Amino acid sequence: MPLSTTVRRHALQPHRVVFLSAGISFLSFLLFIVISVAVTCHQRAEAHNQLIGQTRSYVIRVMDELKQILLPLQAETFDHCDRVRDDLAEQAASTPNIRYILLVNNNAAFCSSASGPMNNEIHQISPFTNDNKAVDIRLVSGAPMLRGKPAMVLWLRNPTTPGNGVLATLNLNMTPYLLLASQQRENTGMAIVTGDTAITTWNEQVINTDALPPNPLRRIAIPGYPMMLYFYGEILPERDLHIIIMAGLLVAVLVASICYVLFRLRLRPGKEIMQGIRRGEFHVEYQPIIATGSDTAYGLEALMRWVHPTEGRVPADAFISYAEGQNLIVPLTRHLFALIARDAHQLCKVVPVGTKLGINLSPSHLTNPDFRKDVRQWLAMMPVDHFEYVFEITERTMVSESNADEMFDWIHQQNIKIAIDDFGTGHSALLYLEKFHFDYLKIDRGFVQSIGMKTVTSPVLDTVLTLARELKLKTVAEGVETNAQAQWLINRGVTHLQGYFYSRPLGVQQLAKYFSGSQPASEDCADISGSIAPVKTGK
Ligand code: C2E
Ligand code: CA
Ligand code: CA
Repeated sequence: MPLSTTVRRHALQPHRVVFLSAGISFLSFLLFIVISVAVTCHQRAEAHNQLIGQTRSYVIRVMDELKQILLPLQAETFDHCDRVRDDLAEQAASTPNIRYILLVNNNAAFCSSASGPMNNEIHQISPFTNDNKAVDIRLVSGAPMLRGKPAMVLWLRNPTTPGNGVLATLNLNMTPYLLLASQQRENTGMAIVTGDTAITTWNEQVINTDALPPNPLRRIAIPGYPMMLYFYGEILPERDLHIIIMAGLLVAVLVASICYVLFRLRLRPGKEIMQGIRRGEFHVEYQPIIATGSDTAYGLEALMRWVHPTEGRVPADAFISYAEGQNLIVPLTRHLFALIARDAHQLCKVVPVGTKLGINLSPSHLTNPDFRKDVRQWLAMMPVDHFEYVFEITERTMVSESNADEMFDWIHQQNIKIAIDDFGTGHSALLYLEKFHFDYLKIDRGFVQSIGMKTVTSPVLDTVLTLARELKLKTVAEGVETNAQAQWLINRGVTHLQGYFYSRPLGVQQLAKYFSGSQPASEDCADISGSIAPVKTGK
């Protein structure tokens, strides 16, 4: 898309900047939320894994230590209680968390670390213990001897003799698990589960597994022991989600503000044009104008060109009307004057004396208070007595300007001719011909292109040419592309022709070639002009 279209569209619709900023900010909000949630969940999962690993190792270590202590007692299950009771009592007393140890022979407990000899069926003591298993663990809420506190009953079967074994009752202290769990706020608790009973960190009572909250985060088995650890918690706690959303909103507001400021700066009306002037992106091309019946150029029309560094060539009518809309036509025309003055000191060496030099002027520059000063300064910069100047002014100027008459008089006083440009495209064109004093009438290329097409415009063109003849106006037909068009126009008395049929607009170097065969120009024209003004850049 041409640059001017892009810039103009944005400049005319500032709400686009708001929509664009809002859109980008919404996308950055979504992106922030997605990334933050993903990162938070990942970090939480890592932390949970770490906690689970630590807890699992702790439980295995405690159970293994216990097993190591109880293992030597297996030999005593074949002995007499009186002989081993002291050793049993000492083991129970010296091992933390052990309440008592019972030695079992032939499924009957015969010796207690607490009370010495006894004879009770194992099922009378711990009804749910499965003494057929090598290792069995039961959680109990407390027995008379257990002072109502939860405990763990550990059964270790004798490896050689089924029916014999060691039954130990252990205090079930959840403090270490609470401490572990408290390392992470997101971990809401743990449960030790054996069979269909469980004990949790939030309620140190033995409960049925049915009473456990559903869907723990993880269930971990403890290898070698019939017990499981359940972990409860949240991967993405509500609090974190709130913080992420708040931070996301902040980011969105920040992004929106930055985008808005940047877009406004970037799309600041006219920035591109002023930058183009400063960076020397503009130059002028000159299109020859032929007098009917002559082969040599009668005059030149200066046409401004903008080669944007990224967008390439920007069409003249696009950037001119954009500059008009942004009130930048005055600095742009001043720049045009400076460029023409610079070129003129080269052109005057190749272009014959008296060559007409047409310059397009925008209506808004004509009405500017500095217009007369700008023109005088420009004339002072030009080679003396070499070119004859023609200001090309469109009909729109006359529509909007009440004192156009006075201004045209002033232009004539400067010895500058006036051409009415794009004739026939505006309103009341014929009326202006009688009202104002013009030197040339430029027939719009739309008319010229309709020649031979049997459209309604050809009769209109006929009428215009007849009127111009009567008013003794010189006529320039622009946009002549074919010999047929040229002949049609010549036959109807058009005095001057301009168009690709004769020449495209040419750069200074090309013009030198174009004029190489014509009358010699002033060799030393630069010297007689006085100083050559440098091309001014910036405002
Ligand atoms: P315009 O004053 O009517 O200029 C003639 C336009 O017709 C030029 O287009 C020229 O390149 C083009 N042209 C010439 N011969 C032919 C042809 O045989 N066929 C076709 N299809 N086109 C032809 P350009 O240079 O793109 O300029 C477009 C308009 O932009 C100009 O129309 C003029 O209104 C404006 N413009 C150009 N340069 C300046 C400038 O320096 N100052 C101001 N104020 N306006 C300018
Ligand atoms: Ca023109
Ligand atoms: Ca035109």
